[in-house]
Parts: sequence; C-alpha cells; structure tokens
Amino acid sequence: MAEKAFRNTSSTKGLFVTLMAVTCVLIAAVFAVLWWLQGAGLATIHPKLPAIIGGLLAVVAGCILLGTLLLVLTTLLGKDIFGTRLLRGIAIKFLLPVIEFIGKLAGISRDTIRQSFIAMNNSLVLSQRVRLKPDRILILLPHCLQLTDCDIKVTGDINKCARCGRCPISGLADLAEKYRIDISVATGGTLARKVIMEKRPKLVVAVACEGDLTSGIRDCYPLPVLGVLNERPFGPCVNTTVDTQKIDEALRMVLS
Ligand code: SF4
Repeated sequence: MAEKAFRNTSSTKGLFVTLMAVTCVLIAAVFAVLWWLQGAGLATIHPKLPAIIGGLLAVVAGCILLGTLLLVLTTLLGKDIFGTRLLRGIAIKFLLPVIEFIGKLAGISRDTIRQSFIAMNNSLVLSQRVRLKPDRILILLPHCLQLTDCDIKVTGDINKCARCGRCPISGLADLAEKYRIDISVATGGTLARKVIMEKRPKLVVAVACEGDLTSGIRDCYPLPVLGVLNERPFGPCVNTTVDTQKIDEALRMVLS
C-alpha cells in the first residue's frame, strides 16, 4: 500500500517517457537525413561508402531505439528488464539535456520536465528492487526546510533540533530515529557531496527542488537517489516543506 502511494506521486514520469520516445525518433530521423545528404558525395570517394556509413548510422540509431525502448518498458513496468543501471546513466547523462532542449522548443517548462525526470529516475531505481540495511541509507535534506526564525543550527547534526514541531525537520528527525537511518541537512551541493563522501551510503533519499534534485541525481550517479520534491508555499529556498509520509513510504520500499 505504501509503495502504491509513493508510486502514485511518480505519475508525471509519462511526460519524460513521451519526450524520450520523441527524442529517439528525431535522432533516428536526423541520422537518416544525414545519410541521404551525404550519400551522393560519399559515392564519389568510393561506391560502397554510402552503404558502409549508412549501415553504421543504422546500427547506432538501432542501439538508441533499443535503449529507449528498454527505458520506456522498465519505467512503465517497474521491473528491471535489462541493464537498468546503465540505462539510468544514459538517461541522466545524455538524454536529459536533449529532452530539456526539445521540451523547451515544445513550450514545456524546465521544472515540469525535471519533475518528470525525477519520477522516471525513481521508477528506475525502484525497478532494481534494492533492499538495504538502515545503515546503508542516507536521508539528505535541504536547509530551507528549517524555519528561518529558528536559532538552532541543524546542519551537521539534526539531533540538535528541539523538536518543537514548527517545521518538517522535527518529523523527519523522528522518522530517521525510528528506522535508525542517517539523516543530514545540507546547505548546498558541495556540503551534500561531502556528506555522501563521508557516510558512503548505498542509496540516498533526497528532498529538494526540481533543479537541485536533478543536479544531485546527476552528480551522484551511479549511486541511486530517490528524489522527493519539496513544497514551496513561501517561494523558493525559504520555509519550504515536505510530506514526511512520502519519505516514510520511500524508505519502506528500500529497507530490508
Ligand atoms: S522543528 Fe527543530 S528545526 Fe524546526 S523550528 Fe523547531 S527546533 Fe527549529
């Protein structure tokens, strides 16, 4: 049941999957046009050259098509079909920038695409069905979850939180205590990377905005990251909040 609720938050992945398929078709079309344009010129060098270059382009386009098909199937079925880790890497390193560009041309906001990417990434991570002990998981939180008028410095040690309950830090610290999981509050990407280097988790459950989560997922690869978006009722980076229940559900899906 918990799993179902977390997966439901991932329904936006459909957009990324659609854009992935469109990107794939466009790449194949560009390859076909390139081959067609170059064909006549190549034939003057050697009559067999158009066929050789055409064959190579077809193999590359075929690999891209197959990879995208596997990504789409893995994302939709939620099952590790084949090489999910590698496919996640291709999506993160190669497809995301291209898809962001195509989405921009289609008038889709960058945040919408990133939300969809995070949802797809979560699906791919969960499809691997990893089950870990609590000490191999790290919860990483952004500093903006803490109330700005709170005088306690929770970065570095969340246990300093007095648990007054005025911001989500209190509930999240309780959650980490319940499962005996490491939890850290980071003020930015550099500190987050430092925390990960120190704690060496096998999986990170991270809370952040679309931009920070996307760059965090990209920077951490191949370390799997389950991303949970924060809510920003007062605008970005100030007194943000998060549904603790979503973190709880994500944790239950990866805890052994
Ligand atoms: S819950 Fe903790 S961090 Fe948040 S305002 Fe209260 S004492 Fe400060």
